[in-house]
Amino acid sequence: MSHVIHRSLAQVPLVAVGGKGVELFDQAGKAYLDASGGAAVSCLGHAHPDVLAAMHRQLDQLAYAHTSFFTTEVQEALADHLVTHAPAGMTDVYFVSGGSEAVEAALKMARQYFVEIGQPERTHFVARRQSYHGNTLGALAVGGNEWRRKQFAPILMDVGRVAPAYEYRDRLDGESQPAYVARLLAEIDTKFQELGPDKVIAFVAEPVVGATLGAVAAPAGYWQGLRALCDRYGILLIADEVMCGMGRTGSLHAVEQEGISPDLMTIAKGLGGGYQPIGAVLAQRKMVEAMRRGSGMFQHGHTYIGHAMAAAAALAVQQVIQRDQLLPQVLARGAYLQKQLHARFDAHPHVGDIRGRGLFWGVELVQDRSSKATFDPAFKLHAKVKAQAMAHGLLCYPMGGTIDGLHGDHVLLAPPFISSEAELDQVVERLGDAIDTVLAQQPVAA
Ligand code: PLP
Repeated sequence: MSHVIHRSLAQVPLVAVGGKGVELFDQAGKAYLDASGGAAVSCLGHAHPDVLAAMHRQLDQLAYAHTSFFTTEVQEALADHLVTHAPAGMTDVYFVSGGSEAVEAALKMARQYFVEIGQPERTHFVARRQSYHGNTLGALAVGGNEWRRKQFAPILMDVGRVAPAYEYRDRLDGESQPAYVARLLAEIDTKFQELGPDKVIAFVAEPVVGATLGAVAAPAGYWQGLRALCDRYGILLIADEVMCGMGRTGSLHAVEQEGISPDLMTIAKGLGGGYQPIGAVLAQRKMVEAMRRGSGMFQHGHTYIGHAMAAAAALAVQQVIQRDQLLPQVLARGAYLQKQLHARFDAHPHVGDIRGRGLFWGVELVQDRSSKATFDPAFKLHAKVKAQAMAHGLLCYPMGGTIDGLHGDHVLLAPPFISSEAELDQVVERLGDAIDTVLAQQPVAA
């Protein structure tokens, strides 16, 4: 009998008792190859000795001091590290305890910025369908995942909604990629006009969509066009890199590959690699200067912001990534994983698309490849694949989402940056076996 309110109230999950490198162990002693790091969190795997040592040192020194009284050396050192490696102009950092908190802080900082510079009439956010920005009310409001939003919709702020950049399903037959990008940007422009471009605070999007679509990057030119469009109207651009950031795609930040710098960027998951809960907002200097010259403060705060233990863990994770040159390794191993996924699934009748960057990959499952028809939601394919993968000793992150009224299933892979080629072979093999086992158990309706 568990007194914990678990995610599923129908079933108490297995008990995890240990982790080492790319593996997690349950109470029965079974080992699981952790190919999703939870939800793209455990970038260095489990029990990394250098991270543990740094955490022990910090614990001996100071676990926590409230930020209204003190800063700490470790918080300052982490901020220095992040700013040194940030996209152009991002000079300041606000620490929080996770991804949703980072998104909330970014939304509020964006709003406060306009109040400080004398544009209080800006009150709207615009974001995309099939996006996920977190589960707190502000983050849930900007997120476009209908399943998660549905019962809370009446209490969420109104957000302007546009299409995701989802080439596999939304680029029309015969439409060139530049024409598709132009169409997406035109829709955003129309939405800005509809709301009034001087009433919009910010556009919020994930550079590589994680949970809701499964590692979907926008086509070339989208982010540059978006940056230009926001600049035209003085609208802020918020890049949510909670899942795709901190090296996951092979560059420290996914926006680096788009050649743009956002006004605000949220990071979390891979920042602390799961060793401690931590997230952050990176901000352009102008944002912080406006608050400094104006009210003199950012009107926000939580008890645990800038937590010393969390900062120590994150600093150690980031230093290991730099010292061991793991970003080039993510690119190399990512290219290997891509090759192996294609080798295993290119001819698979129920794999419609394989997409991703670095060590962040999505495999979309379809009932029919030519029509891209999805499986019946009642089949709960994603949940079955997750259970079967665990039976095969693999942790992956399958999701089923609503794609404009259709139900789609995909599997997200986010293995640790330290994964070897042999371990990635195992990931692909076990995933293939899990998918085939599930589909063999259930006749696929024509
Ligand atoms: N933003 C993105 C892009 C995410 O993927 C997530 C979580 O999956 C969040 C925000 C919310 O982060 P957290 O679950 O740490 O609150």
